[in-house]
Amino acid sequence: MKNVLNNKTVVITGASSGIGEAMAKVYASMGARVVLGARSKEKLQALAAEIEANGGKAAYCATDVTQAEDCKRLIDTAVKAFGGIDVLICNAGISMRAIFDDVDLEVLHRLMDVNFWGTVYCSKYALPYLQASRGSLVGISSVAGIHGLPGRTGYSASKFAMTGLLETIRVENIKKGLHVMVACPGFTASNVRFSALTADGSQQGATPREEGKMMTPEEVARIVAKGIARRKRLCLMEIEGRATHFVKKFAPALVDKLFYMVMSREPDSPFK
Ligand code: NDP
Repeated sequence: MKNVLNNKTVVITGASSGIGEAMAKVYASMGARVVLGARSKEKLQALAAEIEANGGKAAYCATDVTQAEDCKRLIDTAVKAFGGIDVLICNAGISMRAIFDDVDLEVLHRLMDVNFWGTVYCSKYALPYLQASRGSLVGISSVAGIHGLPGRTGYSASKFAMTGLLETIRVENIKKGLHVMVACPGFTASNVRFSALTADGSQQGATPREEGKMMTPEEVARIVAKGIARRKRLCLMEIEGRATHFVKKFAPALVDKLFYMVMSREPDSPFK
């Protein structure tokens, strides 16, 4: 596969952990200049230093993606450091675990603020630079963005909203050479289930699934890079995503049943 990330400027939100951190390391090793955003400034600082120590190029900006002005600062940091932007990866995200009956409405607002509005703000400020470079706008969605995942209303809703946003930006830019991709990892070992919000908004602090049996963040990073190289619209990663996408077209009720069955078997599932 052609290394399209060599000498390209790639902005990554949620770069302090999990998939975002892996993308930063993998893409820097592929020759990309990476620009890191997340709230944990110390982690970004350490990651940027590690990348530079390995011969890569990195800049960072402490960013809370729920704040439009932070997102603008992240984009400005990239432009100031490297003169433009070739790829924006809207990856910052949080999850939840509670059924709709029980969930505090604030939890749903929080999910939309981080996952959806964070994508809106970063896309908005990066768009002129991405248009100029005929680059790639990437949203890290989920299998939960293909079909509603029980116990994750706010998460699925935020990922569906991201898809609506990104798809429309793609159509609006059809004559401008902008590539827009929605990437849907399946379960990937990371901090996302530990930080997931429960019904009252407190963090779950534990994972209900076997993290060791999941994809690694590095695998996800490499698949996303391939998707960018091939200028794909939708980047599915493994059997869960491909099967969900395919079967939903013909037998959506079967997907309902399978999702219910699989998720209800999690320990402490909020539904049985
Ligand atoms: P992690 O919890 O390991 O990483 C999440 C990242 O998002 C962190 O860097 C965190 O940084 C950042 N983040 C959270 N809130 C904010 C905020 N308000 N502003 C800026 N950054 C924020 O999870 P993953 O790596 O797994 O998640 C990355 C993406 O992948 C998410 O969008 C998630 O939905 C998606 N995904 C994950 C799957 C999985 O099973 N892991 C499956 C499918 C999709 P900080 O706390 O420093 O701000």
